[in-house]
Amino acid sequence: MKFVYDFHEGNKDLKDLLGGKGANLAEMTNLGLPVPPGFTITTEACQQYLRHGTQVDGLSSEIDEHLATLERAIGRRLGDSADPLLVSVRSGAKFSMPGMMETVLNVGLNDESVDGLSRQAGGNDRFAWDSYRRLIQMFGKTVCDVPGHEFEDALHEAKTAKGVTDDVQLDADDLRALVGAYKKVFAKHTGHEFPQDPREQMDLAIAAVFRSWNADRAVLYRRQERIPTDLGTAVNVVAMVFGNLGSDSGTGVAFTRDPATGEQGVYGDYLSNAQGEDVVAGIRNTLSLADLERLDKKSYDELMQIMATLEGHYRDLCDIEFTIERGKLWMLQTRVGKRTAAAAFTIAAQLVDEGVIDLDEALTRVTGAQLGQLMFPRFDLSPSPESSSPDSITRGVGASPGAAFGEVVFTAARAVEVAAQGRPVILVRRETNPDDLPGMIAAEGILTSRGGKTSHAAVVARGMGKTCVCGADEMEVGRDSFTVGGHTVREGEVVSVDGTTGRVYLGEVPVRPSEVVQYFEGDLDPANANDPLVAAVHRIITHADEKRRLRVRTNADTGTDAARARRFGAQGIGLCRTEHMFLGDRRELVERLILARTDDERNGALAKLQPLQRADFLEIFREMNGLPVTIRLIDPPLHEFLPSLEELAVRVAVQHEHGRRVEHDEKLLAAVRRMHEQNPMLGLRGVRLGLVIPGLFAMQVRAIAEAAVALAAEGGRPRPEIMVPLVGAVQELETVRTEAEKIIAEVVGESPVEILIGTMIEVPRAALTAGQIAEAAEFFSFGTNDLTQMAWGFSRDDVEGAFFWRYLELGIFGISPFESIDADGVGRLVKIAAEEGRAARPGLKLGVCGEHGGDPDSVHFFHEVGLDYVSCSPFRVPIARLEAGRAAVQSDGSDHR
Ligand code: PEP
Ligand code: MG
Repeated sequence: MKFVYDFHEGNKDLKDLLGGKGANLAEMTNLGLPVPPGFTITTEACQQYLRHGTQVDGLSSEIDEHLATLERAIGRRLGDSADPLLVSVRSGAKFSMPGMMETVLNVGLNDESVDGLSRQAGGNDRFAWDSYRRLIQMFGKTVCDVPGHEFEDALHEAKTAKGVTDDVQLDADDLRALVGAYKKVFAKHTGHEFPQDPREQMDLAIAAVFRSWNADRAVLYRRQERIPTDLGTAVNVVAMVFGNLGSDSGTGVAFTRDPATGEQGVYGDYLSNAQGEDVVAGIRNTLSLADLERLDKKSYDELMQIMATLEGHYRDLCDIEFTIERGKLWMLQTRVGKRTAAAAFTIAAQLVDEGVIDLDEALTRVTGAQLGQLMFPRFDLSPSPESSSPDSITRGVGASPGAAFGEVVFTAARAVEVAAQGRPVILVRRETNPDDLPGMIAAEGILTSRGGKTSHAAVVARGMGKTCVCGADEMEVGRDSFTVGGHTVREGEVVSVDGTTGRVYLGEVPVRPSEVVQYFEGDLDPANANDPLVAAVHRIITHADEKRRLRVRTNADTGTDAARARRFGAQGIGLCRTEHMFLGDRRELVERLILARTDDERNGALAKLQPLQRADFLEIFREMNGLPVTIRLIDPPLHEFLPSLEELAVRVAVQHEHGRRVEHDEKLLAAVRRMHEQNPMLGLRGVRLGLVIPGLFAMQVRAIAEAAVALAAEGGRPRPEIMVPLVGAVQELETVRTEAEKIIAEVVGESPVEILIGTMIEVPRAALTAGQIAEAAEFFSFGTNDLTQMAWGFSRDDVEGAFFWRYLELGIFGISPFESIDADGVGRLVKIAAEEGRAARPGLKLGVCGEHGGDPDSVHFFHEVGLDYVSCSPFRVPIARLEAGRAAVQSDGSDHR
């Protein structure tokens, strides 16, 4: 196996093997762009290292060869004390994980070569000793787990001793002394001296980067971003170039378009006389690219040209890291850049306009999750009758859009604590670093006083789709309060942050629907919206609708929800849960039904419920006129409609205590006791209820048929589908069907109403006997909530809070199977049922109505399996439409049925 690739040997399509950074460095090298020479150690080497915990066989000799090539290319040798080659050792996984893993810079320096470096830098002692102390610090922390604060303390002492406040005020002698102090810290913690052999430094750094794949924050980030746990990271060994050699040097980050809005034109941050990660760390406020044009026109022009080349080559927004070493521009990284949801849509549409990509490809450039983000509400800043519009207290860079409010907290730990108590928080920091990740995940929004659109906070927040304002530099951030413009805001006080405009407000600002939701509601005409985002969403989702094979229905059980879903593009109702119609003031009727001792009592209750149900159905049929409406007969255990056993028992006991007897309560208690079940989810519910309580399903079927006939009489076109829940055997369905058909025939008579009868497939046995069940069903709808519950044996009401965190931690699954379909297990049941059902009854209609119907990954799965439709909540309908379109253009085009 080959473990090491020279930059000349790789290309951008080898991300699995070389990681994103390595693959793109290779691509840039091959494009002839100025990339410092280097090589990449593969993710496979990392996987082997992590599996066996030892050095990988053969790796060392491969590194020897590639190092020799690198030394020849640059004309310097690692460890040459007179003229040393220094390298950086950088992590780089397949998926970008900003700042989550390790990097060691300046590898190759030791007590002798530090002088050689000084000579290389034209006698710049200060630079050489500063580079050396940075190496010991980074190497100590990353490779040997020396606590970072010990180095910071030593640096602080050096500054105090000299009476200065800034690192740059330390001269070469101070830094030489600091190197001595750092070495002591190093030896104290590791029990040995700082390694002087450059090759040993390099090997240890490589192993540390491998190990950093499993660092806590990297594990957490992967879980958050659904990145598989077993990929490993590649390691890039690159000849060092220095942005900290003086005012003709510097380092920067840039985007070929604005990653926040998608606006055309380059965007970037530059720091002169700085090294490595200083820009991303947000340590100093940065200059813009326009400033760079002023400072160094030649490098700026070359950079612009390279950025145009990269955009043309990748046909997408690229972000880059570059360094200028004494007027010479070097490219240190590029990738197809992360962007906000809004930018993803606008850029995709722009690229279509520019003729760079077609609409099919535009569909692959956006996701349902991004569309979901665009549907979040915005702040409503218009004055109301009660109050004028709120004034913002300060403004920073709108780095990741959204509208968030919450209690101000100043540490990641406190953010996690308060959020765990169910209260929204805004994490306020001077700048964030990778250790803040748990707090950033817990927070509704992030606010920093330093750094630009490319700071750590901005990049990570954008990746997570979290609201972020950064670089609000009027703010003074303290330990438990911040002050700005005469306001002091203490921990626990509420602020609102607008990630689009960058504005910060005191208190909670009310919100209004986003423009994208207004568009879906039909309140905003995309042709006249004058909003490139709405126009882009319209264009792309229209194309998705043209391309998709899957139809999209909604889960709705009121007329209002049905109407909204229809405006959002739903093509019918896939699940109307009738039990929701039995609550409120109807609960009493249900109680009477349950408590009935005689047929007369029961029929009395049913007769009262029936007209109410008929009116419910008629309203929904009207809203969905012409479209199919699947109504599920009542599903949950009846005791859900009764008071809790504990409460009732206490009430009756208290009545007895006071010598009173309330007959109604006693009857109710007896009924609740009678019906109490240990496992109600596996008990008397679904079709079983219909078979046990005479007249219950019949009442519902009659109400459905009568409502349909009524709409037809009005000239409408009702398309009801009656769905029987929790069927496990065809005999159950046949029994219900026989009774239902009789009622339907009676009610419908000559009316032109057609009513289908089908079943949910949500019990594993139903999936496994789908061939038999299809004989009695005109359609199947997969209830993947119960199917997941029963396939895994996971109580859907308990497990997610109880122990899923451990399963996620152990990597047993990367995401809850209740959220995204477990393709191997539950998905297999779906596949078997779909195939066997269709074999038994060609043309059998197949859909899904569990929560998975609106989950992007699951939608792709259902497309592949060949279902006819997915059904999801109204707000997820546009997401499912988009994902179904994406699935259609991404799959191989063959029909899997
Ligand atoms: C299901 O089980 O997937 C389903 C849609 O039914 P419910 O969630 O109502 O049990
Ligand atoms: Mg169910």
